[in-house]
Parts: sequence; structure tokens; C-alpha cells
Amino acid sequence: MQSTLSNKEVGNIMKSLAALMELHEENPFKIKSYANAAFQLSRIPDVVMEMDRTTMEQTKGIGKSVAAKLVELRETGDIEALRKLLDMTPAGIIDMLQIKGLGAKKVRVIWKELGVEDVGELLYACYENRLAKLKGFGEKTQESVIQSIEYYQANLGKFHFATALQQAALMEADWKQSTAWSRTGALRREAIVIEQLEWLTTAGLEELPVPGGWQQSENGWVAVSPGGIPMVLHVAEAAQWATTLLVTTGNEAHVDFVLSKVEDPQQPFEDEAAIYKAAGLTFVPAFLREDLAEWEYNDQASADAIISMEDIQGVVHNHSTWSDGRNTIREMAEACMARGYTYLVMSDHSKTAVYAGGLDIQQVRLQQEEIDRLNEELAPFKIFKSIESDILNDGSLDYPDEVLASFDLVIASVHSNLRMDAAKANERLLRAIENPYTSILGHMTGRLLLSRPGYPVDHQLIIDACAANRVAIEVNANPYRLDMDYHWIPYAQEKGIWIPVNPDAHSTAGIDDIYFGVTAARKGGLRRRHVLNALPLSEFEKWLKDRKAAKGIA
Ligand SMILES: [Zn+2]
Ligand SMILES: [Zn+2]
Repeated sequence: MQSTLSNKEVGNIMKSLAALMELHEENPFKIKSYANAAFQLSRIPDVVMEMDRTTMEQTKGIGKSVAAKLVELRETGDIEALRKLLDMTPAGIIDMLQIKGLGAKKVRVIWKELGVEDVGELLYACYENRLAKLKGFGEKTQESVIQSIEYYQANLGKFHFATALQQAALMEADWKQSTAWSRTGALRREAIVIEQLEWLTTAGLEELPVPGGWQQSENGWVAVSPGGIPMVLHVAEAAQWATTLLVTTGNEAHVDFVLSKVEDPQQPFEDEAAIYKAAGLTFVPAFLREDLAEWEYNDQASADAIISMEDIQGVVHNHSTWSDGRNTIREMAEACMARGYTYLVMSDHSKTAVYAGGLDIQQVRLQQEEIDRLNEELAPFKIFKSIESDILNDGSLDYPDEVLASFDLVIASVHSNLRMDAAKANERLLRAIENPYTSILGHMTGRLLLSRPGYPVDHQLIIDACAANRVAIEVNANPYRLDMDYHWIPYAQEKGIWIPVNPDAHSTAGIDDIYFGVTAARKGGLRRRHVLNALPLSEFEKWLKDRKAAKGIA
């Protein structure tokens, strides 16, 4: 026999039942009585599950219908009505019910009106400003939902690099620069997903204060950041600093290879560079140490330099108030100019993306007229006319050819019917890639890091097709996407693919996500000479022109 459930546990079950009934719009009176019981249960001093039925029914806040459910639960270990509701509800929707500030009614609207079915998709919808536009939601709700989800995801033990970085900086702000400390581990490697924040120091713990203080554990000194990220502090003696930094930075395969080439790894080294030197290897910066692209790496100063933020000239793939962005085209352009960029590619959503305010043909014309006017005014800064065309279910693009021809470039992306098998996904993307108007493939797999795997594309096949059709592949720089994954960058470069690093900005602040794209892409060894938006304006224009000419669509 199972142990008796506490009042609190029973209360939680009743709470779930009420929430699920509300989600599925069942009898409001019943919902109310279950919700009320859930609330009252924790206030009842006696253990309800040990009461006989009559006592239950007479206890304040329980009553007949709730008692019936509790007896069923006691006798069968289950409540049939609850199980049926669970069967009808996608797991991601059930997760969403846990998010503070949402509640079943709102979750239902999100589910039914946005078609969003899990927490990660919901977070992304918030970032695209879609939640704020739903009836009964607004910016404030959206903001609190973002915070709740970030908290929820924090509890799952993995964190986006952007979140980890923000938390790390928060800690480091209190540490003296004069103290010997360094980031290490995945944080120092700038991994796209991070489980803990790690530092190395030769100083005493008091030099690196954290809220709550460091606690001793088997793995060194540990603590938890205010956002819930585990933190580890390694302490080394000065003589072992360089080796400990190398080893804790990782990754393991990289470290093993380097140390296997060093005759006496125990000897003290001046710094990491001395270890690489002793190994007869070129020094490898921490971000590249993934046993992936670093062994071809030799000289950052050469023409073969790896991409950095300073190389980015233009901002490709942006949304404005014409579709689901927060800012006007003018505001986006001015934000780019303020950051020293020389061109902007506006790629609002296309007409099928109704949920995102996709542009119909008439709106496309009006937007292009606005861009013409702005270009006259803002020259030599240039705004390019583009669209993020949905790749429809059959792989076709979203407008007739004469409309597609009016754009300087077309980004083709999948936004709907994401659940596809590999054959279908490949076929759909291939058809889009073969469309002569497709200039860039947008977020190649549709993945949302930590919440939604991508659809199952054959990366090699898709990259080969892009090479054959002169289609560039973006690294979508949104820290929740970082798609195409950097592990495919070496192969894409080998095939001569152009790879723009695109913020997919839905606001002026979103432009700065380029940083996360560059940070991820350089882990795959992305070279400046392959980055489409590292081209100066005139060369970028020429690239577009040459491409149209080669495709016979000029
Ligand atoms: Zn998109
Ligand atoms: Zn987009």
C-alpha cells in the first residue's frame, strides 16, 4: 500500500485538476469547487486522506463532489477525470501551467491562438513580441512571463550563454581587477549552453565575494548565482595557474591532445601560451577549444582571420513594426548608424505568417516606398528591401515571382508545420533552396536551444544544395537559436558557403544579438572572408547583383 498523501499533496492534485478543467473550458462551478478545495486543504489540521467519507464531506472546503474524487484517489491511486484531461493536453502545455503569472485561461489563449505548445516556443514568442499583442496580455504580462520562464528554465539546470554571461558579469562586478582570477570552463570557452559558471583564482575566497558565500564541496568552492546558476571557484597555487586554467577550461579532448604532446605536464608554466609552445602547437584561444576547428587555426592576423565583432559591416534580417517588430524602419536604421554599421536589411514576415503580422502584397509595395524615401534621406547609409518568406509546406515561397523580384534579397525560413520527418524536411528545404529568389536560408533547423530540437535536416545535403544554388546560410544570432549550429561551419566553409551572422532583430536592442552569433560562429572557426555581412556596402551590393545576374532574375 502506498503511503498516505499529505493535505498539501492532495491540494496540489486538486489544483492541477482545476487548472486542466479550466484549460479545457469545463464546468465553471466544478472548477471553482476544486480550486477552493485546493486552497482549503492546506489549512485543514487533520490528514484528509485518513478521514472516512462522511467526515470528508462535512469538512469545510471539501464537500461532496471533492470528497468523491479523494475517495477515488485513495481507492484506485488515480482520478479518472484528471487522467483523461492529461491525455488531452500536450506535455508542453502542462509545463506552461507551472509558469507564474499565466494561469489556465491565458495558457489556453496562447495554445489556441498562437499555436504555441511548449515553454521554449512561448519564450521565443515573447521575444518576438507576439504575446504582448494578444488580447488581454500586454507588455507587462509579456515581461513577467519572460522572467518566469527564465526562472523555470534555470531550474532545469542548463542556461543560454546570454543568461550565463549576464550572471557572471553580475558577480564579477564586485571583484577587484587587481586580484588574480579568470573565467574558466564552458563560460570561458563561450559555450552556447552552460551548466555552471566557473572561475579560477590564486587569491583567497574573500577576494571574490558572492551572495551567500562560497561553500566547500568535492569539486572546489561552490555557490549559486542570484539567477539560480551553479557557480564553481577553483583555487590554484601560482605555479600551477597556467596548467589548471588550461585543464579546467577544457574541453577534455582538446586538453588531452595538448597535454599528450607536452613532455612534463607537471612542470610550472608561465602562462597557457608556454604550454602550447612546449607542445609544439600554435596557441589556441579559449573559444576555439572544442576539438573541432582549432587544429586548422594558425594566425589571427592573416587574411584567414576568424570573424570578430569589428568585422561586421551590415545588419541582415530584421523586423519592424510592419510585421512583429517593436521599432519602425527609421528607428532600426538609426540604431544601426549609431552602432557604426553601414547597411540594414529589412526582412519582415511574409503574408502566410499571419500570427506575426506578415505583409500582404500591397503592404510590401508600401514598405518598399518607405525604404526608398528613407534611403534618399539617410544616404550613404543603405536599407535593403527584403522579406523573410515563409517556406510553405510544399517548399514554395510565399509570393508570386513578380513580388519576389521586387526584393533585393529573400531570406527563406520555415515557421509552420515544424513537425516533419527527415525526408519531408529535406525535400521542403531543397525546393526552397532551388527557388532562384532565395538568397539566404534562415534559421536552418528551427531549433530553440534548451526547449525545442530542430526539425531533422540532413545538414550535409542542405549545405551542398546551398553551395550549388548560390544560397547563403545564416547563423541566426538570437541566443535562443544560434542556428545553423557552429559544428557545421567547418563543412559549410569547405563548400564555399557565404555565412551572414544575422540578429533576426525584432527591436533596436535585438541588433546587438549579433554578438552572440559571432561568439557562437567563431567556435566553428568562421572566417571573415566567408561572412556575407562582413562585406563593405559596395561589395555586398555587388554580391546581390551578381547573384541575380547568375540566376537570370536581374
Ligand atoms: Zn524566422
Ligand atoms: Zn526573422
